[in-house]
Amino acid sequence: MPQAKYWNVLNTSFLVGTLVLALILVPWRILVVRPMWGELLVFATMTFLVGTAISGGYHRLFSHRAYKASWPVRFFFLCVGAAAFENSALKWSSDHRIHHQHVDTDQDPYEIAKGFWYAHWTWAMEAKDLPITGVADLEKDPLIRWQHRNHFLIGAVVSLIPVGIGLATGNVWGYLVWGLLLRIVVNHHSTFLINSAAHAFGSRPYTDTNTARDNWLLAPLTYGEGYHNFHHLWQWDYRNGALWYQWDSTKWLLNVLAWFGLVSGFRRVSAAAMERARLRMEEKRLRERLALASPAVATPMRLRLEAARLKLDQALASLHERHEAWQQKKVAWKAKGQARAEAWREAKAEWRATLAQHRLELRAAWAEWRAARTEVRMALVFA
Ligand SMILES: [Zn+2]
Ligand SMILES: [Zn+2]
Repeated sequence: MPQAKYWNVLNTSFLVGTLVLALILVPWRILVVRPMWGELLVFATMTFLVGTAISGGYHRLFSHRAYKASWPVRFFFLCVGAAAFENSALKWSSDHRIHHQHVDTDQDPYEIAKGFWYAHWTWAMEAKDLPITGVADLEKDPLIRWQHRNHFLIGAVVSLIPVGIGLATGNVWGYLVWGLLLRIVVNHHSTFLINSAAHAFGSRPYTDTNTARDNWLLAPLTYGEGYHNFHHLWQWDYRNGALWYQWDSTKWLLNVLAWFGLVSGFRRVSAAAMERARLRMEEKRLRERLALASPAVATPMRLRLEAARLKLDQALASLHERHEAWQQKKVAWKAKGQARAEAWREAKAEWRATLAQHRLELRAAWAEWRAARTEVRMALVFA
């Protein structure tokens, strides 16, 4: 635990002060005054917009360059994101890129090994201010530079919108408590949960080389950022909940913006690469269990597993290559323009035919993997 003399007074008093005030004033509004629909609606809207600006803007767009955004979208994310009071996009991205680069080491600004609450928020209360590095690409954007110079003022103006509504409706206290105070606290802690809870609780389906976890419970609270194990492996992917059934409101919103042509160039990892990573983790866990079994069982089962894994891995690798080649082809065709529509249709038909073949091979390889896995598990039971 850091000593008081090393604490950043402004950050500490703001983070603790807003939380304490909210813990006193929100129950007062609920129990004594009763909340009104307007206050709750403004609270929910502001929380969602500011949280999404952090997730879709600060995190996925600026820190990870996971897609391209037109200037109105960048401007919106920068203005609304400033109201989270989590520093400028430039500083936030700098810290966050260091987190990814040095995750779980002493250089990680919010290293989970230093404790849950440290990773959650006490790191932000310490006086050690990391210098801004590794964001030269962002510094080229005049909008980002403007926000960096004025983020506190911009954040204050955006945050005071609910108070303006309060003044207009003669209910300043109601909108101040719900729309400003509680909104700030909720936005803070939903971001902080990613650095604490998403590095402590949940599953690791894709990699165990770092502490990041997939946690479906966190996803709705964090605008889809709860799938942190996926995110740490493919940080440049515009999705965090990559599977269709995983909650990722930021991903859905970005897709809506793409329909209107406001964002583009989504970067995404192929489904085959995700399956390969999952397969490797599954095999690793089965091997660890086999290591404890008798050699009479472990040796043949290890060979069985190895053969099934190789076959499935090859099928997934070739599907992944086809996916990559197709993406490149698509870009090349787009560059050539619409003139060769006929040839384009032929190429597409050919791609569909080979894809069907790949899928067939893959299905057989999966079936074999599942059979091998069952055999290994049965052998372990009777070993
Ligand atoms: Zn992380
Ligand atoms: Zn990230």
